[in-house]
Amino acid sequence: MRYLSCRYIEHGMDFEHTRLETCCFTCHSGGGMITLKNEYSGEKIDWDELFALKRKYREAHKNGNLTPNCTGCVFLEEKDWDDDDYINFLQFNYWIQCNSKCRYCYEVQNKKMFDKIKPYDSVPVVKEMIEKNILRPGGEVSFGGGEPTIAPEFEELIKLLTENGFKNMRIHSSGIKYSPAIEEAIKKGVLNVVISIDSGCEKTYKKIKNVNSYKKVIENMKKYAAANQNAYGLMTSKYIIIPNINDNRKEIDLWIESVKNIGGKWLAVDIEDVWYKMNRANISDYYLDLINYIIDKAQNYNMKVELYDRARGLKEGKNQI
Ligand code: SF4
Ligand code: SF4
Repeated sequence: MRYLSCRYIEHGMDFEHTRLETCCFTCHSGGGMITLKNEYSGEKIDWDELFALKRKYREAHKNGNLTPNCTGCVFLEEKDWDDDDYINFLQFNYWIQCNSKCRYCYEVQNKKMFDKIKPYDSVPVVKEMIEKNILRPGGEVSFGGGEPTIAPEFEELIKLLTENGFKNMRIHSSGIKYSPAIEEAIKKGVLNVVISIDSGCEKTYKKIKNVNSYKKVIENMKKYAAANQNAYGLMTSKYIIIPNINDNRKEIDLWIESVKNIGGKWLAVDIEDVWYKMNRANISDYYLDLINYIIDKAQNYNMKVELYDRARGLKEGKNQI
């Protein structure tokens, strides 16, 4: 049946620190956060209960009653949706620990609160989902954090998904710790690693990340870029535009040159979340110009540019919705 919905309401699930959600997207005016289970920390899941709740959300969308939290989301699309109960858009965002201290990070800013959260391991649940054919390949599996690569179960999780035919995986990493599982999956062409370096030099990197790891990150980005040179490769270098810190063409030029020098061909751009949400109705054209500058420059270098949801919202004029 054809109606306005999104792949996450239909077939998505997101492991968060203390909850299960449909997705992790929160930067649109509706604010996201459509909860599937509160107070979750790795326990067995009652799938009948979870899919009954998902069906309730899906039915509302079918009847034209958009979940208010989804208002303005860039992932909404009108198309034919199938009616089965399964997950093929899976997100892992439950890790708390990180080896970076980014100035824009919600977890860094609320460290005391996050330190109290009990860590858990998703591997037993993922194994059950695969055994019961609840989790199916064909969609997308994404990892955020904290930092996925420092979680004890990370390498096993990637192996498990790779061996079970998941081909469209995406990991958001600080890039500080090299991961053999990431490199292996990149070689197989099934995983894209996104590293937010947000800078073109050591000095700006330190100002944003509060750690001295610029050279290590460049080195790891280079290894991942070399692991797969098909089309645009499978290493994405991300730049989060942070007002008054790195929002200038000079830094952006340095960033793009540094990516080019290590053999990277895929860029991603976003805008700092808190600033975006506070200023969404009144963002100066300067930021749209900056995004267009990156797109033009990348085109000249035959690089691909991907806009993450805040940057995409601005480019598509959806920031005020
Ligand atoms: S429309 Fe957006 S906020 Fe709503 S479930 Fe889909 S991705 Fe999440
Ligand atoms: S890498 Fe991610 S989780 Fe780690 S401090 Fe930065 S934003 Fe936070």
